[in-house]
Amino acid sequence: MSKKIAIVTGGGSGIGLAITEKFIAAGIETIIIGRDENKLKEAKEILGDMCHPMSCDISHLSTIPPLIENIVKQFGQIDILVNNAGINMKKDFTEVTDEEFQSVITTNLSSVFAVSREVAKQMLAAGSGSIINISSMAAQYGLPRVIAYSASKTAIDGMTRAMAVELSPKGIRVNAIAPGFIETAMTAKALNTDPERKAKVFGRTPMGFMGQPADIGDAALFLATDASKYITGVVLPVDGGNSIGF
Ligand code: NDP
Repeated sequence: MSKKIAIVTGGGSGIGLAITEKFIAAGIETIIIGRDENKLKEAKEILGDMCHPMSCDISHLSTIPPLIENIVKQFGQIDILVNNAGINMKKDFTEVTDEEFQSVITTNLSSVFAVSREVAKQMLAAGSGSIINISSMAAQYGLPRVIAYSASKTAIDGMTRAMAVELSPKGIRVNAIAPGFIETAMTAKALNTDPERKAKVFGRTPMGFMGQPADIGDAALFLATDASKYITGVVLPVDGGNSIGF
């Protein structure tokens, strides 16, 4: 297999780190992007020479074109993009300010658009590529107290399909993964202080336990490589059955 280059936003922790681990184990050079330089440094120490940390706050949209240009200059190509970076905010609907709503939308949606646009320009020139967006159960059904997050992830599913129909004829596959409840810092924050919500999660998850970041890593590797070469435009739940649970 010829050398492949991937970008994983938010690759320094949680699900993004697990995706990066799987990519590197498969021989894919992976650039990880995040705001916290220490987190990126720690990830690099674990993952070694094939991991390339780049610090950037992708909610500052104007930093994205130079970032991607720099990556292309340094690595020559981008074969795989995983739009994984994201934030959550749990608050009553009527308490959410316009600024808070916009902040989640900017990180979870506008930055995904801007990074994908810049990477797609390069992939179009190459005539190939795989883009994977990380969605959520919040786009599969109604979840209370996460209005901005739900809006952002539901838009991700629509954007995945719109990108797939426009880019797939030109060799770029675009898919999404909808993780169920996965054990990371984000879910610890959302569930550990809310036993009622936690009980609801388990009550509708037929497999009866939470997923591990590596489960999403396996799905991302599948969607990144030729094992999924006839798959585009799907939103793949990796959720222990949570999205179809009663
Ligand atoms: P974490 O909070 O562990 O990781 C989020 C990552 O995103 C961090 O590495 C963080 O890095 C990065 N990030 C956040 N904001 C920015 C920014 N502005 N610029 C650059 N990087 C940023 O969360 P998870 O691993 O749990 O979540 C990863 C993705 O999976 C998210 O999109 C989330 O919505 C989604 N998801 C998670 C689920 C779960 O059960 N855990 C379920 C469904 C979806 P840094 O702090 O260094 O900026």
